Amino acid sequence: MSSIFTKIINREIPANIEFEDEKCIVIHDINPKASIHLLIIPKKEIPSIMELEDGDSDLIGYLFLIARNMASKMDLDGYRLIFNVGEKGGQEIFHLHLHLLGFK
Ligand code: AMP
Repeated sequence: MSSIFTKIINREIPANIEFEDEKCIVIHDINPKASIHLLIIPKKEIPSIMELEDGDSDLIGYLFLIARNMASKMDLDGYRLIFNVGEKGGQEIFHLHLHLLGFK
């Protein structure tokens, strides 16, 4: 079964999409924890950081470059980048995503 984020990527359910390219999609979190709260989601359905493979290192680096671009586009003065990992790490959706919490 595909994840909720794959359903958003496939336009099966709606989301506020900020950016998309061939490797990732960026959406606004439905329950924001900061004035700007984005989720940077690779299209590849990796469940969490725990399941990362050696070949995923470029993709993970890419997510951080997208985060930098989004922060610049939104003129943020500062931000936090967070991966919640595993249920005990607060992860609720098991399709890897980078939280960007932005502050002005
Ligand atoms: P995590 O706890 O790291 O798995 O984060 C999951 C995040 O996804 C939470 O901050 C939720 O508010 C957010 N979320 C859940 N469903 C949606 C949705 N349909 N659209 C946007 N964000 C969502």
